Amino acid sequence: MTRIAGGESLSPQPVHHRTSLVDNHGRRITYLRLSITDRCNLRCRYCRPEQGVPFIHHDEILSFEELERLVTIFAGLGISKIRVTGGEPFSRRGCMPFLERLRRIPGVERLHITTNGVKTAQFLDELAEIAIDGINLSLDTLDPERFKSISRRNYLDSVLEALDGIIARALPLKINSVVLDDTTDQEIRGLAALAKQHPISLRFIERMPFSGRDHAATLEKSDLAARLLRIFPELTECATDQPTTARLFALPGYAGSLGIIQGYSRLFCATCNKLRITPAGILKTCLYDNGTLDLKKLLRGGTSDREISEAVLNCARHRFANGHEAERSASRTAEPSMAKIGG
Ligand code: SAM
Repeated sequence: MTRIAGGESLSPQPVHHRTSLVDNHGRRITYLRLSITDRCNLRCRYCRPEQGVPFIHHDEILSFEELERLVTIFAGLGISKIRVTGGEPFSRRGCMPFLERLRRIPGVERLHITTNGVKTAQFLDELAEIAIDGINLSLDTLDPERFKSISRRNYLDSVLEALDGIIARALPLKINSVVLDDTTDQEIRGLAALAKQHPISLRFIERMPFSGRDHAATLEKSDLAARLLRIFPELTECATDQPTTARLFALPGYAGSLGIIQGYSRLFCATCNKLRITPAGILKTCLYDNGTLDLKKLLRGGTSDREISEAVLNCARHRFANGHEAERSASRTAEPSMAKIGG
């Protein structure tokens, strides 16, 4: 059990009266990804333009109090896993105390964070103290020049400091690496070596055409499994009975595992257990939908917790079967960016 200075317990809190959130396709929803900001200190070329995206006005972003109220409501509906993401979550002042408060919300059994690592090193002791259940660190390359060319920023040293600190503290770590059109096999081998040395999961991510226009090009080059098998012929796939967006592989002599995440191919919709809330308070029941509920309007319009729960249950009852169906009905003219949705 983890304790903080005042001696208070920060263990996951049990909750007794919970509804089960089951959608109209029989999928049990237990996981909420909470994007707490649209701001980011990187400008990754596959995520947002160099000049950035127009920021959502501060007043339009959910306050921490509003987010905590929502998490309490969602936990009452059976959400047990929360992932805090962004934008870059540590770009928002107060992120760490917010995580500490989330830890205490009854029903939140697993708390995770996704970060680019730029400002993360300074918070590692506190993340250890709250016994964070998982850190997903985004790291596309180990080469400083290439890091700069992908992210348009020169922060690889800070990210590697965070990586070393996470490993030194034995915090549960997954590294996410987006595979770009010009990612070489050598680069993939270099990243994979981290999983050889350390008991971590290194997941290669299929690039999605968010903010881009080249669906065909992305699909053509997206057979990551075949590519990994070619590079590492001894890979064996690990079986799992958990809903997951990653396929995991073991490799002889590796302390950790390799994985692939094929969000664009949408191979995992049948077991999707996830909801998302954007920084502006829009509930998404699928990454590819246009948003199904304006939670901010409800929060600021005097709606009771019970009414908000009902509205969420109603969205779950009308969930798209898969990301293709969601995308068709969203009828967008432009691809949305992960910067706005929250990764
Ligand atoms: N700033 C945090 C980070 O970098 O981990 C959290 C947000 S970021 C949007 C979450 C993840 O989404 C990162 O791993 C990023 O690489 C990934 N991502 C962003 N745009 C993407 C795209 N077009 N295709 C695939 N992954 C993408």
